[in-house]
Amino acid sequence: MTVPDFPTTQRAFLFADPAAHSLSPRMHGAAFAYAGLPGTYEARRVPAGELAAAVAGLRAPDVLGANLSLPHKEVALPLLDSLSDAARAIGAVNTVVHRGEQLHGENTDAPGLLAALRDAGLPDLGPGVPVVILGAGGAARAAAFVALRDLRARAWIVNRTLDRARALAAAFRPYGEVQAAAPQDVPWAVAPLVINASSAGLNDPGQTPLDAAFLARLPAGSLVYDMVYRPAETRLMREARAHGLGAENGLGMLAHQARLAFTAWTGADVPVRVFLDALSGAAGAGAAAGAGRTP
Ligand code: NAP
Repeated sequence: MTVPDFPTTQRAFLFADPAAHSLSPRMHGAAFAYAGLPGTYEARRVPAGELAAAVAGLRAPDVLGANLSLPHKEVALPLLDSLSDAARAIGAVNTVVHRGEQLHGENTDAPGLLAALRDAGLPDLGPGVPVVILGAGGAARAAAFVALRDLRARAWIVNRTLDRARALAAAFRPYGEVQAAAPQDVPWAVAPLVINASSAGLNDPGQTPLDAAFLARLPAGSLVYDMVYRPAETRLMREARAHGLGAENGLGMLAHQARLAFTAWTGADVPVRVFLDALSGAAGAGAAAGAGRTP
């Protein structure tokens, strides 16, 4: 592990509303301890009207940066001095890095998802192989970016509201082959990967974004990756496993996006297991309190 020179206590934050049930303080607290760095991470409830002032506060010399979650990921872009390619393409920043005099916006959800897919055993896909994305919100935009730019797949966007899927597909056409579709029009039989980027199933073990009849059409060896991690096994995952498919929840993505943010702030490369260990047991813990939307 690389340990940077880190003389005094440095601060990092989460700005979200709500913020109380966030798992991020557990993960980053564990990471600071593992790296032996004198840092703090505080989840702050920042209402929409207070975001600009909160972001301006990140320019203080002892601040490393912040994570942004609902409802700030998209609206924060104009408040920052620079953006990564991923943040600009996805239109969302989940990590602000205070570097020199500048605030730089990153999106670590996309590379976090890719790392989690690799951990789940996803092999290299040939160009144009179909990847199905369920949902058309911010998380689906990160998934589309990964599918098109990293996996070089053909992305099929399936969403409860088809017009939103169409809008997402149109926005990502510069990055590759992408189209909106109703479930019955997706080429399930040749799709090695389905990503649930919808919030269906969040805190609701009976809810699923996809009729199990479509899962039955997937080829053996396909992976169903559910970004939802509360409950730890969603109905989608349960039904995928019942059909003999691979299925993983979103804890891996959550851990990887945090690890990448921590490295961007501190320069320390802390193993992902430190973040996963900090999450262990937490996946079901806050469900009753309505947690799960805020990393
Ligand atoms: P969002 O912008 O609010 O989008 C929600 C999406 O879910 C929309 O496409 C919506 O469809 C769809 N949806 C909601 N309820 C549904 C239902 N009952 N059936 C079918 N579709 C439904 O939310 P987001 O920020 O993209 O987040 C989506 C999910 O990803 C959340 O569960 C979030 O916790 C998770 N996530 C996980 C990680 C991680 O690290 N694991 C990171 C980011 C996000 P409509 O367009 O029809 O409303």
